[in-house]
Parts: sequence; structure tokens; C-alpha cells
Amino acid sequence: MRSILRSTIGKITIVVLALWWFGLSDAVDHGYWNLRYKMVRNPAPHDIVVIPLDDLKEYGNAEEAAVLVNLRRMMPREVLFDVKVKTGADHDGDTALAQALRSFSDDLTFVVRSERLDNFPASSFHFPPQEIIGNARIAVSAWKTNFLANAISTPTSVTIDGRDYPTVSAQLAHSAKVRSGLIYPDFSIDPSTIPLISARSLLDGKVPAEAIAGRTVIITAQGSAPNVGYFGSNVTSQVPLDVAGAAALRKPFSVNLTDFPLLVLTLFALTLISRRSLYRLKIPAYISVVAIVFFAPAMLRGYGIVSSPDISICALLIFGGLRLWHKRTRRIQHTNVSGLPNLLAFSTTDLGVGRDVVVAVIARYEEMLATLPAELHGEYARQIARRISIGTGTEEIYQGDSGHFVWSEEARPLEVQSSHLEGLRALFSAPLQIGLHTFDTNIHFGLDRNEGLDTLTRVNSALVSANEALANGRVVELFEAHRLAEAPWELSLHARIDEGLRNGDIWLAFQPQWCFRNQRIYGAEALIRWDHPTRGPITPDAFILQAERAGRIDSLTYWVLEEAITAAMTINALGERFQMSVTLSAQMVDKADLVSRFSEIVARRGFDPSLLTIEVTETSSVRNRPAACHNLTLLRGMGFRLSIDDFGTGEASLAYLADLPSDELKLDRRFVSRIVSSQRDRAIVSSTISLAHALGQAVVAEGIEDAATFSLLHDLGCDSGQGYYLGRPQSFAAFRTVYEESLRQRRASQL
Ligand code: C2E
Ligand code: MG
Repeated sequence: MRSILRSTIGKITIVVLALWWFGLSDAVDHGYWNLRYKMVRNPAPHDIVVIPLDDLKEYGNAEEAAVLVNLRRMMPREVLFDVKVKTGADHDGDTALAQALRSFSDDLTFVVRSERLDNFPASSFHFPPQEIIGNARIAVSAWKTNFLANAISTPTSVTIDGRDYPTVSAQLAHSAKVRSGLIYPDFSIDPSTIPLISARSLLDGKVPAEAIAGRTVIITAQGSAPNVGYFGSNVTSQVPLDVAGAAALRKPFSVNLTDFPLLVLTLFALTLISRRSLYRLKIPAYISVVAIVFFAPAMLRGYGIVSSPDISICALLIFGGLRLWHKRTRRIQHTNVSGLPNLLAFSTTDLGVGRDVVVAVIARYEEMLATLPAELHGEYARQIARRISIGTGTEEIYQGDSGHFVWSEEARPLEVQSSHLEGLRALFSAPLQIGLHTFDTNIHFGLDRNEGLDTLTRVNSALVSANEALANGRVVELFEAHRLAEAPWELSLHARIDEGLRNGDIWLAFQPQWCFRNQRIYGAEALIRWDHPTRGPITPDAFILQAERAGRIDSLTYWVLEEAITAAMTINALGERFQMSVTLSAQMVDKADLVSRFSEIVARRGFDPSLLTIEVTETSSVRNRPAACHNLTLLRGMGFRLSIDDFGTGEASLAYLADLPSDELKLDRRFVSRIVSSQRDRAIVSSTISLAHALGQAVVAEGIEDAATFSLLHDLGCDSGQGYYLGRPQSFAAFRTVYEESLRQRRASQL
């Protein structure tokens, strides 16, 4: 039951029943029948003629009596006297009318119309005085209407004060055929075709006898009852309705099947249309639903069977609207070329609990597309999706841009999930055959396990990881939850660095460098610091990488350079030659404007480039090695000193040493810190020092933390050193104090 209610047809049923219940579908009903009877117009039956009294300029009971007397002579079959009779004003007229009426004996029926529509209490009928009616029959008129006062039905009889009176339509149709119940007028009868006879001509004796003889005559006067709407025509008096009602009773049936049989048939046909498996029946079902909804009601009504299509039309309209809407969303949610659902479609799905989001990326996808004719692009994507589908048992595989495919997997332990994806990768070891083209497929996966986040975020996370897996040559890369928390920080790093520089949260620390030969501080390394107001101190290792990713490293480096030069100039002014070291990011070494920027800065500041040591590190991540070598050669040629930082750690250190013009090697602290305890590390450091000296390089040892290491390095012939033992990175003011103190002591000792 619940599944029926959830289905599209179930929902449509509920909506149309609500529309029906609140009467909102009546407007559709009104429109339908109005249109129907505008199209079909039949002539009125000839055996009923109407004599309106209104063409007599003035008339009272005497004139009415005269009309009746003339009529009687012409032998009508029966007369319906549909006039509100007032007595007392003209005694002779009253008597004449009473006599004329009585002269018809059984062939005259008095018409009494309810003053109201829709509900007919006894008080809404005004019977003429008994002396007028005499023994004449009485027929009543009582019409039910819709919300626009269009007539709908009349009963066959109405009970007033315990007596049953036939309605006018029933009377006109002749009682033998009348079934009890409601009469639904035949609106196909055009009211303008009801034969009219002028009362004036009748009184003047100008009406031929055959126009009246054997016919039913309705004598009528305006204003006897409220006007009503007549489907397909203008608002009329109730007389045409009486005629249409009588015509309906001449049909084989007079029943109202209600709206529901049509609705059931419509819903059944719509169910067939919406079943994918029955797509062959779609066209017959469409034809039948249109027939059911638009033609069946009109046809049935021709036999006197009433069944309104309003709620069926509503059902059809809602169904059509939903179809269009689905078509539109389908178009938006599917990739044009392959017809596969796209990421938008995936992001609108409800993943539920316990699901991982997986993004697969195909290496060199665009290149493969470039070698394929355009008409095979879709096939290529579909084959990949099919293979993923086979490997994962997932039906829907969604396609993103640039060879990305997305789906969700049941969340399993990470190792299980990874080996599952490795299995899927193995499935791709067999090449794909697209037309005459054969492709090897190199597939990588990004995994998001951050359940509870919205699907779009998860897809994006998995996308990032898939791209990383591709870049790092790994099968699977997991998107760690903490990265999401970091994302807003990373993405606004640009602005935050500017803010940090502006308000002094970013500053330069200086770590003293010691010369073993001269036994003094000969220089310092400038190291960047960031004391963030909310995140606390951020190590350069943490934010330099982010700054590089955010494309912010250039401005940061030039800021460091300016600050370091300011500091170096201040210290140099104290009298002794002082060497300042700055670090150059690997991202910048190969930049085209590097040399011009450096030379511009030193020239502007009037600073001797030989007092500045440029430390170059992370040699393996330099993108354009020849450009980097060229830049560094130029810088060295201008007088800058070059230092190879972290020597001994990068895989290309030795090659770098061979290629690069440099003045100094900085021994990485991982070797330095162990030379006292490890014979091997001592051997490495010792031979590196020899190697550097052989190549004309000075050697700086990093990370000297104790006296033993310090003196051992001295013994090994190291040129200079740096480390916590000799001085921590510190603010310029602190550094200056220390430096001035050592200078003073040295000067004092020289005296
Ligand atoms: P690095 O150039 O190798 O810097 C030396 C690092 O070792 C510094 O860490 C320093 O504080 C630390 N250090 C110095 N003496 C000792 C010691 O005795 N023991 C130990 N355990 N550590 C010692 P810091 O300041 O955190 O800098 C880390 C890295 O950040 C630097 O490595 C450098 O690669 C980068 N960096 C620092 N400032 C800048 C800068 O202005 N620009 C660029 N591009 N990178 C920078
Ligand atoms: Mg350094």
C-alpha cells in the first residue's frame, strides 16, 4: 500500500482526489462541457413550441386568457402554462383566465418554478391561488447548477408539502418513460432552434393551425425564475433547459456514472505508459488515454450516460507536467555525449548511511578522446562505466568531466575497500576496444569516507583525492576529514598572509651562524615566523607549502629579502662583515623574473650582493631545471653567494652539486645530530666535507645542539655551524643584542 502511495500514479491519485473533494476540478468540468457543446449543436425537437408572452407590450390575466382561448382552438397536444399568475387587480380578467385554463381540462399543466437554484425548500415555490389552478396538473422546475450557475441537473420530481410534483422536463418527456432520479439535460440542443410562436400573431389569428396542432406548447413569461447558464450557449431562461432535459429523457439511459470509472481507466493507462518494460504499449496507451479523457465522456453522454472527465483531465495534466519536468531534469542530469548520468545527478541522490564515495579518474582520457572520432566518445565513456559497473556491482555510474566517473560503495574497512578498488583496477588491465581502436586504461581512485557531509562536498573531496592518486601514481588516495576543516583556511591563505604581514603577525627570526676558523658569529639565517592570533605559532614548514600552492610564495620571498637586507645593513653598520642567508623556494628558482627582481632590490637598497647567501633547497621539485641553473648562474655572476640547503637528503643532491654553481653546502641536521653517536654518520659528514672542499665549497653544519657535536665538527674541518647550541632563531632585537655583546667581548679581548 505504501509503495502504491509513493509511486507517481499513487501521488497523482491523491492530488486529483483532493482537487475533486475541494471542488477545484469543477472549473475543468465547466470548460470541458462548454467547449464540447460549442462544437456540437443539434436542432430542438419540433413537437415542443414556445409562446413567449413578452412580445405583447402589456398583458394581464385577460390577455393570457385570450391567448389560451385562441390556442385551444388550434388543438395543441398539451399546454404548459409557465406564467406567474396574480389575481385581484382585474376581476373579469381573473375569471376569464380561470375559465380558459379550466377549458383545457387534462391537457394543461401549471408550471411553478423555484425562486432559487440548487436547493428547493417549499417556500421557494409560489403556487397560484386554487381558484386559478382548479384541477390542473402542476409541474415544478428546480435546477442544480455548478459554481458558475450553469445548469447541471434537475430531479424527475420534487416533493412539496408531502405531495410529489413532476419536474417540467419529466412532464415534457411524458411520464411513461420517466425514471426516477436526476435528469442531465442534453446541451447539444441549440436553444435558438426551439420553435417560437409570437403571442401577438396568435391573438391576430396569423398563426397557421398546423404550427400548434398536436404539439406541446409552453406559454411563458419572463421573470418567472432566475436565469441559468447553458453549456455551449449564453445564459438563458429555464425553458430551453426544460426542453434539453426532456430530450435527455428520450435517450436510452439517464445515469451519472460519476467521474471515477474514467479516472480508474485513465490511471490504468498512465500506469502502462510509465512502465518502462511496457514501452511497446506506450503509443496505444497514449491514444487510449486521450480517447478516454476527451472523447469517451462526450460519446457516453450521447446515450444519456454522464461521466465527467474533469479529474481524469487533471490526472493527465499532472502526469504530463511531471513527465516534462523529469525529461528536463534528465536532460540536465545526463552527459550529452555518453548519456550517462552526470555529477549533478549524483549530488542530488541520497546516499544514506554506510556509503563511501568513489571517484575514478582515467589517465590521459582527453588524449584518448583526441584519437577517437567524435561519434565514439560516448561509447568510450559507456564502456568504462560498464566495466566499473561489472567490477563493483553498482548499477548507476555517473560521469564527470575529464575522465572522472563517480559512484558510491558500501563502506568497508579501508584495507578491504582499497583491495576492492585494486581488484577493479585489475579488471581494466584488459584493453578497451572502441570501434577499431584499442586502449589501455590506467585508472586511479579517490575515496571519500566522510559520511554525514553533503553529497556534493563528498564528490569534490573524492575528486581531489582521485587527481592526487593520478598525480602520485597511486591506485587509491583517501580524502582525510581534517583536510575539509583546513580547506577554508587554505583557500583564504592569500588574504591571511597579507593581513599577517600588515599587522606584524608574520616576522623574521634570525639564527646566528658561527665561523669555526674566526671563532665568531659571522652571519645569520633569516627564518620566517607566523604568530597567528587564533591558531598560535605556525611553523614555516606548515605554511610555506600552502603559500606555494596558493601562488603566494613570490611576494612572501621578496618581503623576506627586503627585511633580511634591512637587518643585514644594520648589523654590517656595526663594523664587521656580516653574511645574511635567505631561503629561496624551489617553486621560484626557475622563474623568468627572478634575477631581475633580486638585482632590482639590491640595487635599490644599495646592498652588496656578496653579503647575501641564497639557500636553494628541495632540488628534486624544481620543474624547469635548465632555467633554474641559468638563473642561479646569473645570480652568482652578480655576486650573490649560493648555498645548497639540506645537503644529503634530496635524491639529486650530488647531481645538483655537479651541475650547479654554488659556494656553500649546508649539511642536513639529520646527519649532523648523530655524528657523535654514529660512526657511519660521522664518516658521511667527514667525507662530505672533503668532497665540498675539493669542489671549492664551504660547509655549514646545521642543527648543532650540543658542545660535543660542535667540537667534533670543528675537528672534522667544517667551516661554519648553526644550531640551538650556538643560538636559537630569535627576533632581530634579541639577535642584535647578542651580536653586539659578542662583538664587544671580542673587541675587549683584542685590546
Ligand atoms: P631550513 O632552511 O633547513 O631551516 C633550518 C630549520 O632548522 C629551521 O626551522 C630552524 O629553526 C631549525 N633549527 C635550527 N637549529 C636547530 C637545531 O639545533 N635543532 C633543531 N631541531 N632544529 C634547528 P624552521 O625555522 O622551522 O624552518 C623550517 C624550514 O622552513 C626551513 O628549513 C626552510 O626550508 C623553510 N623556511 C623558513 N623560512 C623561510 C623563508 O623565509 N622562505 C622560504 N622559502 N622557506 C623558509
Ligand atoms: Mg635554510
